[in-house]
Amino acid sequence: MPTYKDIDYALTRSDRSKTASIYVERDGSISVRVPDHFTDEEIEALIEQKRYWIYKHLAEWRELNAAQVEREYVNGEGFLYLGRSYRLQWVDEQRLPLMLKGGYFLLRRDPKTQADPDTAFKAFYREKGGEKIPQRVAMYAPQLGVQVNDIRVMDLKHRWASYSTKTGNINFHWRCMMAPLTVLDYIVVHELAHVLVPDHSPAFWSEVDKILPDYRERQRWLREHGAGMDL
Ligand SMILES: [Zn+2]
Repeated sequence: MPTYKDIDYALTRSDRSKTASIYVERDGSISVRVPDHFTDEEIEALIEQKRYWIYKHLAEWRELNAAQVEREYVNGEGFLYLGRSYRLQWVDEQRLPLMLKGGYFLLRRDPKTQADPDTAFKAFYREKGGEKIPQRVAMYAPQLGVQVNDIRVMDLKHRWASYSTKTGNINFHWRCMMAPLTVLDYIVVHELAHVLVPDHSPAFWSEVDKILPDYRERQRWLREHGAGMDL
């Protein structure tokens, strides 16, 4: 990974990009994308020019991630479901490894779940998402006048959801189930709007705006809380 002064960055050269750009990624790493013909000197000049912007964004990123406390699987620890925090309680016996019951996340004390509670939570979110998300898609798709093929809930690494024009499928990250329903709906409408407009042009946002005039507020929630939503 190249370094300029104290800044490590991942470099991508592309003949498709006409302008250079710098991003702070979701994981706090820095990506620099430049047109093919850029020299090392030009890249360093670009980073130098953007140095304070980078520091500012890194500081913001760290602040956001202070919310991303490594959650511990101990009684009383809070876990999110549809925007609400529920406390964890270990129980000796129940039908499933993890259940949401009486306002608590009940986790079954068995060797498998104790060794890997993450998996029990991911399975919970995937299952709930598999029920809830298709309902929300079915509600909004007719409003946008679109149809989708398959809806899947999975691990998407760095994205909340993605729509494939090739297959007509929408994939959702299981983490979407941690967000409030209003925010989940924004993610749904966002992907459905991509059926009409593939990019994030003004035409795209106008489609989103028709269905959710307050979408900016919902976006803000994602930006502010997104980093704290991992397990
Ligand atoms: Zn998008």
